[in-house]
Amino acid sequence: MAHMVAQKMMPATNAPDSAKSGSRVNKQTSLTIRGSEGMVMTYAQCCYPIPGDPIVAHISSGRGMVIHTETCNNIGEFRNSPEKIVPVRWDPDVDGEFAVELRVEIENERGIIAKLATAITSKEANIERISTVERDARFSIVNLLLNVRNRIHLARVMKHIRLIKPVSRVARVKSKKLSKSIKSNSSAES
Ligand SMILES: [Zn+2]
Repeated sequence: MAHMVAQKMMPATNAPDSAKSGSRVNKQTSLTIRGSEGMVMTYAQCCYPIPGDPIVAHISSGRGMVIHTETCNNIGEFRNSPEKIVPVRWDPDVDGEFAVELRVEIENERGIIAKLATAITSKEANIERISTVERDARFSIVNLLLNVRNRIHLARVMKHIRLIKPVSRVARVKSKKLSKSIKSNSSAES
């Protein structure tokens, strides 16, 4: 995923929150963030932000700058140390491919996984991982990690998946619980 680090990002103008929480945060918003300048930046794997999502950056001493969606549940916990939260936004010219996670409920049928994969790649989205996470006699829950360009691209892919007849539900995985170890690391920093 090294190609993703090079995406250009720009700070948002002062978010309402930052005005309250002191000058330290305000100074940070003047940073222009570019992965290519040596700043360690990664995309959180709990919420997999993609262009079009409102985002915030969390400064973690172990992991550098980690980009989350604003709605990620884990951000709520990080807000205990507001100096570690930096408002950011996507550069309007951002391009490249971004990982995103989907959960698809599908009626079991011979060859259905191949059909699903074909539908996705026909919309120019790459599949990084595909796995069946639950299965009973009739339905399977399939977890997909895809690469898409942005939310519009994702919407097109999801719409196409819904057209497959045995598919009963498609949803983006928006916020997974972080593992315990990541959480305790971040609280130890403060
Ligand atoms: Zn997150």
